[in-house]
Amino acid sequence: MTQRTILSIPDPRLRKVCNHVDVFDNKLQSLCDDLIETMYAAPGIGLAAPQIGILKKVIVMDCDKETQDHKPIILINPKIVWASEEKRSYEEGCLSIPETYAEISRADKVKVTYNDLLGQRNETIFSDLWATCVQHEIDHLNGKLFIDYLGSVKRGVIMRKMMKIKRETLKISKDKQ
Ligand code: ZN
Repeated sequence: MTQRTILSIPDPRLRKVCNHVDVFDNKLQSLCDDLIETMYAAPGIGLAAPQIGILKKVIVMDCDKETQDHKPIILINPKIVWASEEKRSYEEGCLSIPETYAEISRADKVKVTYNDLLGQRNETIFSDLWATCVQHEIDHLNGKLFIDYLGSVKRGVIMRKMMKIKRETLKISKDKQ
Protein backbone atom coordinates (compact mmCIF):
# COMPACT_ATOMS: atom_id res chain seq x y z
CA MET A 1 0.00 0.00 0.00
CA THR A 2 1.22 3.45 -0.87
CA GLN A 3 -0.08 6.77 0.27
CA ARG A 4 -0.56 8.90 -2.83
CA THR A 5 -0.66 12.64 -3.35
CA ILE A 6 -4.15 14.06 -3.60
CA LEU A 7 -4.62 16.49 -6.48
CA SER A 8 -6.32 19.79 -5.83
CA ILE A 9 -8.17 22.17 -8.10
CA PRO A 10 -7.51 23.60 -10.65
CA ASP A 11 -5.72 20.38 -11.73
CA PRO A 12 -7.30 19.47 -15.12
CA ARG A 13 -7.40 15.75 -14.24
CA LEU A 14 -10.17 16.52 -11.76
CA ARG A 15 -12.35 17.64 -14.68
CA LYS A 16 -12.05 14.52 -16.85
CA VAL A 17 -14.67 11.81 -17.38
CA CYS A 18 -13.09 8.57 -16.11
CA ASN A 19 -12.80 5.30 -17.98
CA HIS A 20 -14.89 2.21 -17.33
CA VAL A 21 -12.93 -0.60 -15.64
CA ASP A 22 -12.91 -3.86 -17.64
CA VAL A 23 -9.93 -5.68 -16.13
CA PHE A 24 -10.18 -6.99 -12.56
CA ASP A 25 -6.59 -7.85 -11.72
CA ASN A 26 -3.91 -7.27 -9.07
CA LYS A 27 -3.23 -3.81 -10.42
CA LEU A 28 -6.82 -2.82 -9.68
CA GLN A 29 -6.52 -4.34 -6.20
CA SER A 30 -3.40 -2.30 -5.47
CA LEU A 31 -5.05 0.88 -6.79
CA CYS A 32 -7.89 0.26 -4.30
CA ASP A 33 -5.41 -0.39 -1.48
CA ASP A 34 -3.67 2.90 -2.25
CA LEU A 35 -6.98 4.79 -2.40
CA ILE A 36 -8.02 3.38 0.98
CA GLU A 37 -4.70 4.19 2.63
CA THR A 38 -4.71 7.71 1.16
CA MET A 39 -8.33 8.29 2.25
CA TYR A 40 -7.68 7.29 5.88
CA ALA A 41 -4.43 9.25 6.04
CA ALA A 42 -6.05 12.47 4.75
CA PRO A 43 -8.35 11.83 6.71
CA GLY A 44 -11.48 11.63 4.57
CA ILE A 45 -14.69 9.60 4.27
CA GLY A 46 -14.44 9.06 0.53
CA LEU A 47 -11.92 9.21 -2.30
CA ALA A 48 -12.20 8.78 -6.04
CA ALA A 49 -9.39 7.51 -8.30
CA PRO A 50 -9.13 10.77 -10.33
CA GLN A 51 -8.21 12.57 -7.09
CA ILE A 52 -4.89 10.70 -7.20
CA GLY A 53 -4.60 11.20 -10.95
CA ILE A 54 -5.94 7.79 -12.06
CA LEU A 55 -8.76 8.29 -14.55
CA LYS A 56 -10.70 5.12 -13.75
CA LYS A 57 -14.19 4.64 -12.36
CA VAL A 58 -13.17 3.57 -8.87
CA ILE A 59 -14.22 5.03 -5.53
CA VAL A 60 -13.67 4.06 -1.90
CA MET A 61 -15.69 5.20 1.11
CA ASP A 62 -15.95 4.78 4.84
CA CYS A 63 -18.51 7.07 6.45
CA ASP A 64 -18.68 5.08 9.68
CA LYS A 65 -17.03 7.32 12.22
CA GLU A 66 -18.23 5.35 15.24
CA THR A 67 -16.41 2.04 14.92
CA GLN A 68 -12.71 1.69 15.48
CA ASP A 69 -12.06 -1.07 12.97
CA HIS A 70 -12.08 0.20 9.42
CA LYS A 71 -14.53 -1.32 6.96
CA PRO A 72 -13.97 0.56 3.73
CA ILE A 73 -16.18 -0.15 0.77
CA ILE A 74 -14.95 -0.24 -2.81
CA LEU A 75 -17.22 0.61 -5.74
CA ILE A 76 -16.01 0.00 -9.28
CA ASN A 77 -18.01 1.39 -12.22
CA PRO A 78 -20.68 2.73 -9.83
CA LYS A 79 -23.93 3.91 -11.33
CA ILE A 80 -26.91 5.55 -9.62
CA VAL A 81 -29.98 3.66 -10.82
CA TRP A 82 -32.51 5.26 -8.49
CA ALA A 83 -32.63 8.40 -6.36
CA SER A 84 -35.27 9.39 -3.80
CA GLU A 85 -37.24 12.55 -4.42
CA GLU A 86 -36.60 13.47 -0.82
CA LYS A 87 -33.48 15.57 -0.44
CA ARG A 88 -31.04 16.15 2.38
CA SER A 89 -28.61 19.01 2.88
CA TYR A 90 -25.14 18.44 4.19
CA GLU A 91 -22.14 20.67 4.61
CA GLU A 92 -19.72 19.09 2.16
CA GLY A 93 -15.99 19.40 1.81
CA CYS A 94 -13.57 17.78 -0.60
CA LEU A 95 -9.98 16.59 -0.21
CA SER A 96 -9.26 18.25 -3.57
CA ILE A 97 -10.64 21.63 -2.44
CA PRO A 98 -8.94 22.25 0.91
CA GLU A 99 -10.59 24.31 3.62
CA THR A 100 -13.76 24.89 1.65
CA TYR A 101 -17.20 23.81 2.82
CA ALA A 102 -20.68 24.41 1.50
CA GLU A 103 -24.20 23.20 2.17
CA ILE A 104 -25.25 21.00 -0.78
CA SER A 105 -28.67 19.43 -1.34
CA ARG A 106 -28.74 15.91 -2.79
CA ALA A 107 -31.06 12.89 -2.84
CA ASP A 108 -31.59 11.44 0.65
CA LYS A 109 -31.34 7.86 -0.65
CA VAL A 110 -29.81 6.37 -3.78
CA LYS A 111 -29.59 2.90 -5.23
CA VAL A 112 -26.19 2.23 -6.77
CA THR A 113 -25.04 -0.69 -8.92
CA TYR A 114 -21.31 -1.40 -9.09
CA ASN A 115 -18.68 -4.07 -9.64
CA ASP A 116 -16.68 -5.50 -6.77
CA LEU A 117 -12.99 -6.38 -7.04
CA LEU A 118 -13.86 -9.72 -8.64
CA GLY A 119 -15.96 -8.02 -11.29
CA GLN A 120 -19.29 -9.17 -9.82
CA ARG A 121 -22.15 -6.70 -10.21
CA ASN A 122 -23.80 -5.73 -6.91
CA GLU A 123 -26.47 -3.30 -5.80
CA THR A 124 -26.71 -1.28 -2.58
CA ILE A 125 -29.07 1.37 -1.25
CA PHE A 126 -27.23 4.18 0.50
CA SER A 127 -28.84 6.64 2.91
CA ASP A 128 -27.85 9.55 5.16
CA LEU A 129 -24.17 10.53 5.03
CA TRP A 130 -23.39 7.50 2.85
CA ALA A 131 -25.88 8.77 0.24
CA THR A 132 -24.28 12.22 0.22
CA CYS A 133 -20.80 10.72 0.00
CA VAL A 134 -21.53 8.24 -2.80
CA GLN A 135 -23.14 10.98 -4.93
CA HIS A 136 -20.18 13.30 -4.29
CA GLU A 137 -17.67 10.57 -5.23
CA ILE A 138 -19.56 9.43 -8.35
CA ASP A 139 -19.58 13.09 -9.47
CA HIS A 140 -15.76 12.98 -9.33
CA LEU A 141 -15.80 10.16 -11.92
CA ASN A 142 -17.61 12.51 -14.28
CA GLY A 143 -15.32 15.47 -13.67
CA LYS A 144 -17.87 17.18 -11.47
CA LEU A 145 -17.11 18.88 -8.14
CA PHE A 146 -19.42 19.94 -5.32
CA ILE A 147 -18.65 23.62 -5.98
CA ASP A 148 -20.41 23.18 -9.34
CA TYR A 149 -23.71 23.18 -7.42
CA LEU A 150 -23.00 26.65 -6.07
CA GLY A 151 -23.77 29.92 -7.82
CA SER A 152 -21.08 31.39 -10.07
CA VAL A 153 -20.21 34.16 -7.59
CA LYS A 154 -19.49 31.74 -4.73
CA ARG A 155 -17.61 29.40 -7.08
CA GLY A 156 -15.53 32.32 -8.40
CA VAL A 157 -14.47 33.25 -4.85
CA ILE A 158 -13.39 29.64 -4.17
CA MET A 159 -11.48 29.35 -7.47
CA ARG A 160 -9.60 32.60 -6.84
CA LYS A 161 -8.70 31.43 -3.34
CA MET A 162 -7.40 28.12 -4.73
CA MET A 163 -5.37 29.85 -7.47
CA LYS A 164 -3.80 32.05 -4.79
CA ILE A 165 -2.89 29.02 -2.65
CA LYS A 166 -1.39 27.36 -5.74
CA ARG A 167 0.72 30.43 -6.59
CA GLU A 168 1.96 30.65 -3.00
CA THR A 169 2.85 26.94 -2.93
CA LEU A 170 4.78 27.30 -6.20
CA LYS A 171 6.58 30.32 -4.79
CA ILE A 172 7.55 28.46 -1.60
CA SER A 173 8.88 25.47 -3.54
CA LYS A 174 10.88 27.83 -5.79
CA ASP A 175 12.31 29.70 -2.79
CA LYS A 176 13.43 26.38 -1.32
CA GLN A 177 15.50 25.51 -4.39
ZN1 ZN B 1 -14.38 15.28 -3.36
